[in-house]
Amino acid sequence: MLTRTRLAVVVCGLILASLTGHNAQAQAQPNRLVTSEPGDLPIILSAPHGGREAIVDAPVRLGKGVARFVTSTDARTDLLTEKLADSLEQKLGKRPYVVIARVQRKYVDANRPATGAYESELGKVAYDTYHRALADAREKVVQRWGRGLLLDIHGQVAEPKAIFRGTQNGKTAEHLVQRFGPAALLGETSLFGQLAKQGFPVIPAIDSSDREHAAYNGGYIVATYGSGSGGTLDAIQLELGSELRSSQAMATTADKLATAVTAFATKYLPQEEQAAAAQHQPPRTAKVRVGVYTDEGAGKSVALKSALQKSEDVAVKELTAEEIRSGALAELDVLIHPGGSGGAQGRCLEEAGREEIRKFVREGGGYIGICAGAYLASADYEWSLNILDAKVLDRKHWARGRGMVEIELSDVGQQVLKSTAKQRAIYYAQGPLLAPGNRPDITDYQTMATFKTEIAKNGAPQGVMPGTTAIARGEYGLGRVVCFSPHPELTKGLATFVLEAITDVKRK
Ligand SMILES: [Zn+2]
Repeated sequence: MLTRTRLAVVVCGLILASLTGHNAQAQAQPNRLVTSEPGDLPIILSAPHGGREAIVDAPVRLGKGVARFVTSTDARTDLLTEKLADSLEQKLGKRPYVVIARVQRKYVDANRPATGAYESELGKVAYDTYHRALADAREKVVQRWGRGLLLDIHGQVAEPKAIFRGTQNGKTAEHLVQRFGPAALLGETSLFGQLAKQGFPVIPAIDSSDREHAAYNGGYIVATYGSGSGGTLDAIQLELGSELRSSQAMATTADKLATAVTAFATKYLPQEEQAAAAQHQPPRTAKVRVGVYTDEGAGKSVALKSALQKSEDVAVKELTAEEIRSGALAELDVLIHPGGSGGAQGRCLEEAGREEIRKFVREGGGYIGICAGAYLASADYEWSLNILDAKVLDRKHWARGRGMVEIELSDVGQQVLKSTAKQRAIYYAQGPLLAPGNRPDITDYQTMATFKTEIAKNGAPQGVMPGTTAIARGEYGLGRVVCFSPHPELTKGLATFVLEAITDVKRK
């Protein structure tokens, strides 16, 4: 078997060295207390509780005063982890890093803090070896891929057919969630979502906000090596039911686990080492990742999308409300809400989607609203985002008509939008008449342009529109917001305003 021959026996030298003074019988036994194998995937498998080897002459642990003291073995998790590594190699063409305790848990428990993990000299050697191997593997993975995943494999008998997830309720996979949103940990495409797809009952259920089972919610290893302690390696503890680990079931279990891990890795883990990825990148600066909302309430936005697609500097992605709710903003630098209906967009997003946008901007993302997208950004409706400290004047006559109007740019407007002319003609289509909202909790906006002329059809009173804000620039948390009431993208020669606004608000 591949695994057998490739497993590097790490501790022989150490054990023998530390055995000086111990009796000859101890020296003679094959001391495979911990094995570790280097890998070529950003995945680390750890199995601390499946060991079967005794340490001759060492006393078993008594656990006086040790919290959560357990000495029983997680049966066959050592073999299962080997098989999982083999199956991953079959599916991905490369092997993960593997660290397996061969020594019985009654001599050392690698999934506990050092105090209480061992009570003998050899136990300490095995413990230190295990953790050195994990620390080395983590360092290599981060060095080579920038980030990765550690799976700590355990067994339980409470739910014989099921697998429990242990991440200290998300903490040990914090980086994953920050980067890809909660769906990467809790949803159908998460590791446990993929396990459920393979037919395993999983606890907690997929897409539920239930807390993890207190007995299986992640131990010392995932807490120590996972991203909850900083860094970019995420760690998940898997507690596999006894039936899944039986001699008959084990091969199937390993294969299904590998299928799930492969699906997860393909979606969420780096496919290439950093050095290789850097070589394959053409030597240009990274494109700004711009999302355009295209769900209910958005117009076709043909002109906007074509202006964006023509730009060398941006990569455009269309987004639905559901994608926004499930964390898609994490992959963006700028979000654009285009023309259409602000109310329909806001309602389609639902409070969960609106909160995702607020969080995105608060944490440094950029927001551009055009017409409906400016209504949406304002702080004036139950469905609005409240990320621009603006109210909307004469709300009653929002359907005031369409046509060309004159705007006057402020100094900051000219600077940001790179317009040498102070006065510009621009197409207007019932966008908001913005004015300062004076909300104490949102930073005041800067006026980039005001309306000089007006459209006042369908019963709208004359004289209200001139002097109101046509283009506003605000800050919200670490992010920036630019809102256009009129349509630069529908005005000949002014599509550059949108591109300059992207440069202004993009994540720094
Ligand atoms: Zn265990």
